[in-house]
Amino acid sequence: MYMLHMNMDTFKKQTKNINTVIIPIGMIEAHGPHCPLGTDILIPNKFCGIIEGTIGNNVIIAPEINYGHSWALSVYPGTINISTEAFSKYVEEVALGFISNGFKNIILLNGHGGNISALTRVCEVIADKSGVAVLINWWVDFKDEILKITDGQGHAGEDETSTVLAIDEALVDMTKATSNEVTPKGKIYFKDFGKIIYKDGLSGDATKATKEKGEKIYEAVSAKIIELIRNVQNNKYY
Ligand SMILES: [Zn+2]
Repeated sequence: MYMLHMNMDTFKKQTKNINTVIIPIGMIEAHGPHCPLGTDILIPNKFCGIIEGTIGNNVIIAPEINYGHSWALSVYPGTINISTEAFSKYVEEVALGFISNGFKNIILLNGHGGNISALTRVCEVIADKSGVAVLINWWVDFKDEILKITDGQGHAGEDETSTVLAIDEALVDMTKATSNEVTPKGKIYFKDFGKIIYKDGLSGDATKATKEKGEKIYEAVSAKIIELIRNVQNNKYY
């Protein structure tokens, strides 16, 4: 159920029985010359739409958080980079607001890699407040399922571009899709990292992306996300 559509009374009534909230979290960020700046929030929102259509009576879907942290891609136009400290604190206070409203399970459905360390910290705070936090990084957690469908992954790469195409082909300019296979030799940070590792704002091979691959990713990954949520709701954490 979408929180945005509820009033105070329906929210209070529904939350007597529903103790799980999903907060979609993304980023406004350069995604190559071909994908939209909203890629990282469009995809979590699409997953939420599928979740709403299946277990929507057992979860509240909160409004999304659009802005996150991106150090590497901040060298490209359209990236709105929030510091890890500010972003982490903001999401923490949003999450604690849901705990105050009686929620137990706080699901952070994340679409952006640069958010991961901040969101991990938020999860630790939620757990310390006796809530149950679930951080879902869809392209990392369900990599095995995705790589049965695509040859590779990447920022605005084959998997991510496919998942945007599956939302709406008009969102992607495939005539501008390229590939960039430059990868760092480890966790190495250096000046102009973003310009080199994410040349033209992407990594991986976007030219292999198709709408059909995106649809298969939604099908496979949504099933895993729903299974995870059901386990958490049944107190099966391990
Ligand atoms: Zn992305």
